[in-house]
Amino acid sequence: MDVFDRASEKEERDRTDAIATVLEAARPTSLATGTCVDCGEPIEPERLAVMQYAQRCISCQRQQEHRNQVMTGGRRA
Ligand SMILES: [Zn+2]
Repeated sequence: MDVFDRASEKEERDRTDAIATVLEAARPTSLATGTCVDCGEPIEPERLAVMQYAQRCISCQRQQEHRNQVMTGGRRA
């Protein structure tokens, strides 16, 4: 094995590592953990079944939607 073979082997290993890192970072948290980003409780399995990328449990999602309504639907100066 000469130096070029070694170099390209190392390059390939580095690239594989880099791809794995990027994929890991791009994966939605809830898919990996099934955990609500707000309260840290497990997201209901029936919710994940219909909404794979859900990041909040049902009650936190309701609160979030309520907050959005308050922010967007309310007073205008
Ligand atoms: Zn929650």
